[in-house]
Amino acid sequence: MGKSHNIGSTLDGVDLTACHPHHQVLFEPIQIGPVVAPNRFYQVPHASGMTESNPRVRAAFRETKAEGGWGVVSTGAVSIHPSSDDSPLPFARLWNDADIASHALTTEAVHRHGSLAAVELWHGGAVVMNRTSRLAPLSPSGIPWAATHIGFMGQLRPKKMTGADIDAVLHWQRLATRRALDAGFDILYVYAGMGYLGYEFLLPEYNYRDDGYGGSLENRVRFVREMLEVTRDEAGSRAAVALRISLEELRAKSSEHYESEAHGVVSLLSNVPDLWDVKMDSSPTDCGASRFRQEGAHEPIIDFVKSVTDRPVVGVGRFTSPDTMVSQIRRGVLDLIGGARASIADPFLPSKVREGRYDDIRECIGCNICIASWHDGVPVRCTQNATAGEEWRRGWHPEKFRQTLAPAKVLVVGGGPAGLEAALIAARQGFDVTLAEQDEDWGGRVVQESQLPGMASWRRVRDYRVWALSQMGNVAMFTNSQLDAAALSDFGADHIALATGAQWTTRLYSPLEIPAAPLEGPQVFTPEDVYAGRVTGDRLLVFDFDNYYLGGVIAEHLAEQDRYVTYATPAGHASAWTFMTNELPYVYQALENARVNIHTTANLMGFDGRVATLKNLFHSAETELEIDGVVIVGHREANDTLYQSVSDLSGNGNRSSVTLIGDALAPGAIVHAVHSGHLYSRGLIDPDATYLRDEPVTLHEPDSVFPAYQSDPGS
Ligand code: ADP
Ligand code: SF4
Repeated sequence: MGKSHNIGSTLDGVDLTACHPHHQVLFEPIQIGPVVAPNRFYQVPHASGMTESNPRVRAAFRETKAEGGWGVVSTGAVSIHPSSDDSPLPFARLWNDADIASHALTTEAVHRHGSLAAVELWHGGAVVMNRTSRLAPLSPSGIPWAATHIGFMGQLRPKKMTGADIDAVLHWQRLATRRALDAGFDILYVYAGMGYLGYEFLLPEYNYRDDGYGGSLENRVRFVREMLEVTRDEAGSRAAVALRISLEELRAKSSEHYESEAHGVVSLLSNVPDLWDVKMDSSPTDCGASRFRQEGAHEPIIDFVKSVTDRPVVGVGRFTSPDTMVSQIRRGVLDLIGGARASIADPFLPSKVREGRYDDIRECIGCNICIASWHDGVPVRCTQNATAGEEWRRGWHPEKFRQTLAPAKVLVVGGGPAGLEAALIAARQGFDVTLAEQDEDWGGRVVQESQLPGMASWRRVRDYRVWALSQMGNVAMFTNSQLDAAALSDFGADHIALATGAQWTTRLYSPLEIPAAPLEGPQVFTPEDVYAGRVTGDRLLVFDFDNYYLGGVIAEHLAEQDRYVTYATPAGHASAWTFMTNELPYVYQALENARVNIHTTANLMGFDGRVATLKNLFHSAETELEIDGVVIVGHREANDTLYQSVSDLSGNGNRSSVTLIGDALAPGAIVHAVHSGHLYSRGLIDPDATYLRDEPVTLHEPDSVFPAYQSDPGS
């Protein structure tokens, strides 16, 4: 294992001249079993939504991170057998030899840049419902994961594993290991975290067995130990063996012989794996949104691991600051800095640290839209990095841009997320760019929203782009500049992008599940009134059918001003869609802490200035609330009047192309606005560009390899 010291200007041929001496430790190679990671930047396994259906999309997504300097690049979960079938959620697989070639695309791509490729071999145990394979889920003792959210619910409960079932899983791990080696992976995982099979053996709540795999801690560890041993036995010295483990619940359990059961498990398995990959137990705590969890929030759970193993340790914590990363290494918390979201938001983060380009790092904002993509079952999307998932499909590189051969003037109107992104990408492609914003500050909706409780990190969407634009010689930026149709016509741009945003309305919600007629009245407000400080009254109702974060955040904000706030929504949960971004449990905690009274499945029927009437969405029960005002967070309408008036000019010899982008085109989340701005500007060079459709890698006709497992587990 490398020592921490000031390295000098080069290390193993890596130029560190521009790297701050304090950060050079991040570029020390480190031995992991039989392989050497070239530096400490480790892209830990994370879901990409990319499966065997889109292997080229996946390979290019992972390759970009290797190119950007991540020394290890991992897959997401790769199922070892059809009894670990998470459909309809996206997952990869190594079920038979036919799956090897598609993974080889990824390993070859990662190796091209000198990085190591890791594979997260995975058995989901009782968490998966095997909806496609229709096999009984496996578990130590038949205990199901009884999820509270409909998206994860299922009716099939797991079977109790027999000794033959345990042998079968070990055999499948061996076969998957063999295939992973053939595919070219350098680090092979055993997964004992996040409720999956290995984890279920570790926790007494899941494991009631009275054989050698249950009872004492030594027995509960046995299955994971055997999974590691079988992987090691098959891999020999060809690859390292990593254990990914969740330690939150185990650390909360007292132990007879150890400080906690987590200490016990790590001590018992101390040097069995070549690498420890340590994490939290559930997605909301492990991949916490920035609204509720700070950078490095895992440390109190995982800080002991290095004291009970000699093997290198990797962990995550939404690290974006090199100082925090170095601190983790210097203080002996971690040896390798794990990144999932940090690597999605900026695949070139390691290169930028190495080159001393700190301001150029596109920091993750912790919105968890990337995680929502997985819940949606689609390839990853990122608010900060519009190119994530589009590397192969659209040929978008996060740092490289084709230069225009036909210099032209581009005018972007509106400096919100869409306008800022459009201006930046147009400028990077060599266009002569002018950006005009009517307000005194850049950022559009981000400026206001980032001042609400917990939302400060979201300002990075604005800050990164404003900084990057300020570095470019071909950009003119004007605030306090409201442009009208005449100004656009006079400007004489070749291309005009209208990123004029959208505005909230006071429309109510219809039983047809569509926005209805606006609610009129002096004490009826929208989020814009909240930002402008126009909301008056001590007793307020927030009525939310937008269902993402804003309704909940505004309720919290108003309650912080010592007002009595009621929150009502026709949905089944407050801020219902935040289930997709791991925020829902914490939204409830925040609203409870702020003493906000919550009504769900409640539709606002009217407000006479004194009494608001809520009606249950499904039956006729009504609730009357005496309030002073209502804030409606429901429907947004595009600000497209400027576009309409410019369209009218087109017959007057105006030859500019005029295009709506962002919320002015189709109101959405910030991720949509950034993508829209990016798409527009890439299209300036190649207006006819479409995207490629990926296809599975097929080597031969489909075969029948899993016919008889239920009766013949050894097959
Ligand atoms: P998006 O998310 O699509 O970027 P935003 O609402 O965040 O949308 O930003 C739109 C921006 O456009 C706001 O900052 C707004 O002040 C600005 N804007 C709207 N109309 C004009 C205009 N006519 N001239 C200049 N700026 C405008
Ligand atoms: Fe970070 Fe949001 Fe991008 Fe995910 S989508 S990587 S949380 S900025």
